[in-house]
Amino acid sequence: MPGRYPQPPKLISASVLPMLLIASIRVGAAERPNIVFIFSDDHAVSAVSAYGNSLVETPNIDRIAAGGMRFDRAYVGNAICGPSRATLLTGMHSHANGFYSNEWSGPFDGEQQTLSSLLQASGYQTAVIGKWHLYSDPVGFDHWEVIDNAFEQGTYYNPAFRSPAGVEESTGYVAELVTDKAIAWLEQVGEENGPFFLLYNHKTPHRDWLPGPQELRDWDEESRIEEPDTLLRDLDGLTQARRDARMRIADYMTDNDVKLSMGRNLTAEQEALWRQAFAEGNRQYEAMELTAEDDLRWKYQRYAKSYAASVKSMDRQIGRLLDYLQSNGLMENTIVLYSSDQGFFLGENGWFDKRWMDEVSSQVPLLVEWRGHIKPGATSDALVQNIDFAPTLLAAAGVKPATPMHGVSLLPLFEENPAPWHRDLYYQFYENPGFHGVARHYGVRTERYKLVYYYQNDEWELFDLEKDPADQHNLYGKPGYDEITTDLKRRLQALRKQYQVPASDPEVPWYHGPLIRLMEQLLKLM
Ligand code: CA
Repeated sequence: MPGRYPQPPKLISASVLPMLLIASIRVGAAERPNIVFIFSDDHAVSAVSAYGNSLVETPNIDRIAAGGMRFDRAYVGNAICGPSRATLLTGMHSHANGFYSNEWSGPFDGEQQTLSSLLQASGYQTAVIGKWHLYSDPVGFDHWEVIDNAFEQGTYYNPAFRSPAGVEESTGYVAELVTDKAIAWLEQVGEENGPFFLLYNHKTPHRDWLPGPQELRDWDEESRIEEPDTLLRDLDGLTQARRDARMRIADYMTDNDVKLSMGRNLTAEQEALWRQAFAEGNRQYEAMELTAEDDLRWKYQRYAKSYAASVKSMDRQIGRLLDYLQSNGLMENTIVLYSSDQGFFLGENGWFDKRWMDEVSSQVPLLVEWRGHIKPGATSDALVQNIDFAPTLLAAAGVKPATPMHGVSLLPLFEENPAPWHRDLYYQFYENPGFHGVARHYGVRTERYKLVYYYQNDEWELFDLEKDPADQHNLYGKPGYDEITTDLKRRLQALRKQYQVPASDPEVPWYHGPLIRLMEQLLKLM
């Protein structure tokens, strides 16, 4: 029943498109909103206090939820950094924008239709500041300053930034530096020059989760974060795909990750702060003889607390940016969004990292404030995806894309009594061989169920998310689930057809797998 689901708009003939584009811009020109998209890296919903039961308080991110709408079922279509960013820019799934994998599909082709180019062409002043991670120079941005260090990951302290002027070294904590640069750009945009679009991209809280200076000063070695129920889960009876993954905290977390070795790229002053936080706890750890289970528990605490502290460091900086918008009267005509490129395992299944179609990794926070358009404190449980971000912002700006995007505008959901919203979400992860050894998979997520196919292993998983919201009990092949499985397979094929997913994936060089395994081993030695 294709009519049940939001469909991409039909292609309009090329001859009428320019007229439509101009007309739509003129109609909305007086009221076109500014856009500030606050985008973080690996920030799980379970670490955003606006979502409740969070492992850290995020009072500033929560301001956006209080002033606008919290989406409770927002997902990405490929839970890995670069591909998620390419989708944000294009409104398209990975196979259509060409950026499948962090490891083997770059650089991003910025000449294709993007949110930034469309907004720029329609008169927006555009900037991207912070994490980019697409191995290319940004296109469609009047101003860009992006983190440049190895693999474009950057370092938490003293990262290098790349801009059209070249590469510049910096001194300080990354979230603060990115915010300084964002505010500096906002100070000079001038409202007389048209509305603005700022993509304000944090590196935080990506691995290796280094807290900022204040959080290093505040570090409390004795405090404890509650363990997830599944920290010690035995994965033996599960699919081969799950058993093969190399993401157990117990086995794959490095000394650097848990702060047993000195943080990277620090000045002498920053090293002193690092020692003040961790040195005594490390000394005690070295003196203890822990069982394997207690060792995992110790590592989990160091991991979760470092992650939480780096979230707090970022939240503090987001507060500075929101304060700037507020004190300059900009909140009245600016859409402010908060989201992340994907979620993250924080000890669930004993794991860290992302990649899976599981709720913890494919779900993202999505908070949108737009005064006069969204009722403060609203929530939505509609199924939405990162393919929708570009169509939504273009619709708000009155700009029609030249060719249809995969996503749909979320503007109707901002109404107080939105029309019923029925939709299935498509997901596909390609990065195998790759870091952490997660098998390629595609799947469908419906209102209640999730069906996943690990096509390299020919294995399936089926989850009833109403009874099992954390993807713990695979029902595939169990008695009583034949009918729902057949229906979900049909819906999955319908999505593959709708999005024109190719039958086969791009070729990966033969040496890539061995190279990644070697790099993983080297990482463990660092
Ligand atoms: Ca990421």
